[in-house]
Amino acid sequence: MTDSNGSSKYEIIVVGAGPAGLAAALYASRSRVPTLVLERGIPGGQLWNTEDIDDYLGFGLVKGPELAQKMQEHVEKFGTEIETANVTGIFSEGDEKIVETDDGTQRRALAVIVTAGGDPRKLGVPGEEELAGKGVSYCAVCDGAFFDGEKIAVVGGGDSAVEESAFLTRYGTKVSIIHRRDEFRAQPILVEQMEATGKVEKVLDTVVEEIVGNDRVSGLKLKNVKTGEKSELEVGAVFPYVGFIPHSDIFKEEIEQDDGNYIVSDEKMATSIPGVFVAGDVRSQYARQISNAVGDATVAALAANAYVNDVKLNRSKAAAGN
Ligand code: NAP
Repeated sequence: MTDSNGSSKYEIIVVGAGPAGLAAALYASRSRVPTLVLERGIPGGQLWNTEDIDDYLGFGLVKGPELAQKMQEHVEKFGTEIETANVTGIFSEGDEKIVETDDGTQRRALAVIVTAGGDPRKLGVPGEEELAGKGVSYCAVCDGAFFDGEKIAVVGGGDSAVEESAFLTRYGTKVSIIHRRDEFRAQPILVEQMEATGKVEKVLDTVVEEIVGNDRVSGLKLKNVKTGEKSELEVGAVFPYVGFIPHSDIFKEEIEQDDGNYIVSDEKMATSIPGVFVAGDVRSQYARQISNAVGDATVAALAANAYVNDVKLNRSKAAAGN
């Protein structure tokens, strides 16, 4: 498999085994394309940090880890190999892609599908890690309904925080948006829409110092950064929306990214590097849901398959002297 100058054992390498990576692998392997998936953690990605999922069609209510295991079993049935490896570099060499891992190994393929995801930026306060999945959530669309009839807090002042605050008024008896400045970074139209709900309380110039609760979130310890005044806010859930860090820093050649460092792709999920496709949370896109990650990964796999066929055709033409 370590073939720094030989031919590729795999035609497609998938980087990351969250729902997008596993869906890409399913379609590639099912098309009998030799496919390798590299994942540094456990296959399933963010599903392992998600308690209950009730918005993935056909599953009703399913636990995140259970869905992760079902997806992995499904993919392995079609012969996909999943290896534990931390990808640190991707670059092109001739018509091949080289995928480097942190142990210095280089693997070659004709196409790469990057589904490396990313991480929600954390507040970094006591209680956040301990109560994750127990009232601390980074996905309002996924988890908002679990806090129907409760008081909810959102942290942040960007588009996501403001938009999701408005969304969460569908469930919360009251939604408090806590922002560290007195001005929102979010687009004015989104702020207007949030205000129009009449159910969002703005807590400005304020930071969260601690998320409190025993078995589940019961409140927040707050501090006004201008007056130094401390207070407590009783809530059943808190949604930090203070940015997202996509894992898009693994490319050793220039790849087109948007302002937030998400990778830009066309309708076939092709990136600015020929032979590199992208899907899931690392991709510049409107929504970050399991369903669209899986759908986009399907497109990426089919397009990567067509790309691989083109490379092989070009090779045989070159060999025949055409
Ligand atoms: P963002 O624009 O980076 O906003 C992050 C917010 O979190 C900022 O208000 C920031 O405060 C605050 N923040 C950062 N670190 C913090 C900390 N440690 N403690 C407290 N607050 C902190 O992130 P985003 O809202 O997720 O949006 C990401 C990108 O997606 C943006 O380009 C956005 O326009 C886009 N987006 C668009 C839409 C839409 O068009 N409908 C919806 C969602 C997202 P400061 O303002 O003080 O820096």
